Amino acid sequence: MSDYELPPLPYDEDALTPHISDQVLTWHHDTHHQAYVDGWNAAEETLAENRESGDFGSSPGALRSVTHNGCGHILHDLFWKNMSPDGGDEPEGALADRIEEDFGSYEAWKGEFEAAAGAAGGWALLVYDSFSNQLRNVVVDKHDQGALWGSHAILALDVWEHSYYHDYGPDRGGFVDAFFEVVDWEEPSTRYEQAVDLFE
Ligand code: MN
Repeated sequence: MSDYELPPLPYDEDALTPHISDQVLTWHHDTHHQAYVDGWNAAEETLAENRESGDFGSSPGALRSVTHNGCGHILHDLFWKNMSPDGGDEPEGALADRIEEDFGSYEAWKGEFEAAAGAAGGWALLVYDSFSNQLRNVVVDKHDQGALWGSHAILALDVWEHSYYHDYGPDRGGFVDAFFEVVDWEEPSTRYEQAVDLFE
């Protein structure tokens, strides 16, 4: 059946120091992200067994587990890719133009995104909303609460405590500043272009 696998980090564990320590990156990727991959596989297995047996008693829990663990896997995969040791720049090209168009300016987008990151119980996301055909910031609790259907994630920032507490303690704002020192807009630009190709 389904067999999701944990992809390796796209850089070494110490590549984002001093902004994100190798210890946090190792725990975060090898333990937390792995758990979402395992949880998604286990839920799919339960769903398949129940379809076979015709007993759907445990299916609602498994369906919830698919969105929780599935979103956990999907968002972590994006989070690793939207950072790099060569990051820290501002977006360029079509995505930069669209941010300016939809938010007024890069600064207005960033201020709103940082506010979302400060308030979220999970993630701050920049998404392409295919219903309204515009970019939006989204406040996500857990991995899947607060989703806007039809949205394609462009940029993801994990603000679960496991993402920063070991490095920054309760100073989440310090971690968000550090994220912008390593943010890499190459993957978000690609994802934006894919979304526009699909939906516009
Ligand atoms: Mn995480």
